[in-house]
Amino acid sequence: MTPREQEEARSELRRRRRAILAATREAGEEHEALRTAERGQEVEEEAQAEQGLVDLERLGDAERLELRRIDAAVARLDEGGYGTCATCGATIEPRRLQALPWAVLCTGCEETRELVASR
Ligand SMILES: [Zn+2]
Repeated sequence: MTPREQEEARSELRRRRRAILAATREAGEEHEALRTAERGQEVEEEAQAEQGLVDLERLGDAERLELRRIDAAVARLDEGGYGTCATCGATIEPRRLQALPWAVLCTGCEETRELVASR
């Protein structure tokens, strides 16, 4: 994988992460406004928002799983191993990484895993 491809993967992962967090924030805003009115904690809530703290409780299971996958993929970009199949060590197909930038397995190993899981 070339450094350029790695950078593209990194920005795609960032973009997806931001999209999840933005959607979560929107969904939580109404709820947040109510809580703020009730407790009068406006200042504290604003400080939290500025720090970019994420209320993971608010995320659905699917979003939480995707965030974990994205963070793990970013870690592999930093530490090495991104784009390499965790099972057989083959290079993961570029087309697969474009569709699923957090992919850990190559297509062949993923299909085997799904077969085993569906038994
Ligand atoms: Zn593999």
